[in-house]
Amino acid sequence: MKVLKFGGTSVGSAASIRNVKKIISGVEGEKIVVLSAMAGVTNSLVQINECFKNGNVQEASVFTDLLKQKHLEVIRELIPGDNLSVNNHVLQSFEKLEEILHEDHSENAEARILTFGESILTYIVSNYFEYEGLNNTLLDAKKFMHVSNLENPDTHKVGRLLEEYLKDKQKNEVYITQGFVRIDKFNRINTLKRGGSDYTSTILGAAVQAEEIQIWTDIDGFHNNDPRYVENTHPLSHLTFEEAAELAYFGAKILHPQTVSPVIGKNIPIFLKNTFTPDAQGTKISNEVIRRGLKAISAKDDITAIKIKSNRMLMAHGFLKKIFEVFDAQETSIDMITTSEIAISLTIDDTKNLDAILNGLKAYGEITVDHNHSIICVVGEGLIEEKNTARLFEVLKDIPIRMISYGGSLNNVSLLVSTENKIAVLQALHQKLFVVQKEEVYN
Ligand code: ADP
Ligand code: ASP
Ligand code: MG
Repeated sequence: MKVLKFGGTSVGSAASIRNVKKIISGVEGEKIVVLSAMAGVTNSLVQINECFKNGNVQEASVFTDLLKQKHLEVIRELIPGDNLSVNNHVLQSFEKLEEILHEDHSENAEARILTFGESILTYIVSNYFEYEGLNNTLLDAKKFMHVSNLENPDTHKVGRLLEEYLKDKQKNEVYITQGFVRIDKFNRINTLKRGGSDYTSTILGAAVQAEEIQIWTDIDGFHNNDPRYVENTHPLSHLTFEEAAELAYFGAKILHPQTVSPVIGKNIPIFLKNTFTPDAQGTKISNEVIRRGLKAISAKDDITAIKIKSNRMLMAHGFLKKIFEVFDAQETSIDMITTSEIAISLTIDDTKNLDAILNGLKAYGEITVDHNHSIICVVGEGLIEEKNTARLFEVLKDIPIRMISYGGSLNNVSLLVSTENKIAVLQALHQKLFVVQKEEVYN
């Protein structure tokens, strides 16, 4: 079994969906196809939910109507002529979406709204494939994507539920299902967080012990820096699981932060491919180390730095333990940490329980909080052992760096900078670590 995931832009128009059908038809054997919502649809659903939350039901209805027209248009293009039953189903689904807007707002209502895009699109695509003679079975992900713990999904359970569910389903070479949605520990509909369809594909891949996972997107693989901010980035033909996990966790948008974790232990390779240039090589993520050394740079935003300054502090044994217990009690994980004789600085990305954390910390010293920071992560197997890596410190001359984490592993150096300097740091590091070195090699 293979798992193929197609992201929003890959299914963003009728023409792209036709292209997706071509790609799927060219892949041999049984496959589960995981689809995102059409590009922009989840953003619209977020807007609809905001209006709904603020009691603006009429405005929410205007956005809902636009989404309805968009999907009806796609049906007209993909299934011209005999599309009455597909149209009716879609119209009924939109009526149900409208009905949610008349309930009281709740987290559950919000999740049902946000996951609507995947649900409606998989229905349309499944019918389009049938219309084109590509037999397939549409699977309701809510029947098996039971993920209680977002950081550590029970993939055995997902596999068991899927196996049970498939017993009553028609056997086919192509199964289609929704990305992003999950059933949470309260047995309610919830999401895997934004960009979560990547995560769906690896949870499912691990659950069925897939031979491989293919993530199809709008770029020709994992680039060595963020192409939205840096010019002349290039795709990497190979990354190890650890390298990809680190880069995704530290902000590389091409993969949801948790994507890699379900498959590392199972050694299931992930291929990143471009839907629009399917012949391009793309990136293979596996446990093979093809080349050691520096690979790529990524950035994670919305980081908060907390400094605890104390006179009685660090050298006293047990001090750090007490600090960590405060974070543990608030279920908040720490990303970076540095210490000095009189102070400890650390970063978090989840500020939901910040007030309680600060309250817990105040007994230990003077606290300073800085919001709007970004962690820049430089990654590659054994990169610390390469002498050229030291060049990254040259950026310190021009741009203030709030924290550095070096030596935690051989494979990663992290810098904390104010988000307003993020793009400048990404560009400067690119220049120092990739461009200058390359010029030296060729000169
Ligand atoms: P999808 O809708 O297919 O999930 P995303 O928009 O979530 O696609 O991810 C693909 C985008 O990620 C690319 O178009 C690119 O702009 C962005 N991106 C950020 N960092 C990287 C990187 N290191 N390599 C490739 N793409 C990246
Ligand atoms: N549609 C969802 C989102 O936009 C999930 C995904 O695309 O991966 O966040
Ligand atoms: Mg994505």
